[in-house]
Amino acid sequence: MNDTVARLADVRNRIAVAEKEAGRAPGSTVLIAVSKTFGADDIIPVIQSGQRVFGENRVQEAMGKWPALKERWPDIELHLIGPLQSNKAKEAVALFDVIQTVDREKIAAEIASEVRRQGREPRLYVQVNTGSEPQKAGVEPRDAVAFVARCREVHGLMIEGLMCIPPVDQNPGPHFALLEKLARESGVEKLSMGMSGDYETAIAFGATSVRVGSAIFGAR
Ligand SMILES: *Cc1c(COP(=O)(O)O)cnc(C)c1O
Repeated sequence: MNDTVARLADVRNRIAVAEKEAGRAPGSTVLIAVSKTFGADDIIPVIQSGQRVFGENRVQEAMGKWPALKERWPDIELHLIGPLQSNKAKEAVALFDVIQTVDREKIAAEIASEVRRQGREPRLYVQVNTGSEPQKAGVEPRDAVAFVARCREVHGLMIEGLMCIPPVDQNPGPHFALLEKLARESGVEKLSMGMSGDYETAIAFGATSVRVGSAIFGAR
């Protein structure tokens, strides 16, 4: 077993323990392996050990490696977890199975138009800037419920869940709790929260998917 495959197994075990400790059903958390900055040579062993759900934060970078891998393993599910520029909406809708970073009206409109044009409908999440950090993407917490409703009513987009990235210097628990509350108020079921440093905490707060990069692939 190489290091990456051993680390993947360790993360899977920890997820199972965290689910158990939280009184949650085994397998109720989806592991998204975040492969940004890593190439096919690092990714293939992870696919071969059974992992099928991956996350990338840049459309351009993902376009360079994933089309070939998805052709070889058609059951791969690829998530966009980084900011989406409106001039990349076309490529994002064509490549990704899930877009987790819907965070403004213009992007919602662009995605809706590409969905109509391409007949391909990625599942969608709204990113919430739970820490109201000026440099971070995402809708403000106070706008989240209304934005989810507008995605549905104005743009005809079904939003499946919410996603957040808590401030690096804060205890993530309150941010995870806030995201869970906003999801309930918005009537969406999925919660994408938790990274290498805090995915077990996120599971305790109800994460339905965790986005884990360096704990699997190593330092970037
Ligand atoms: C890079 C990234 C991750 C994974 O971060 P790690 O700390 O390496 O696990 C998760 N979510 C987003 C949005 C990211 O950009």
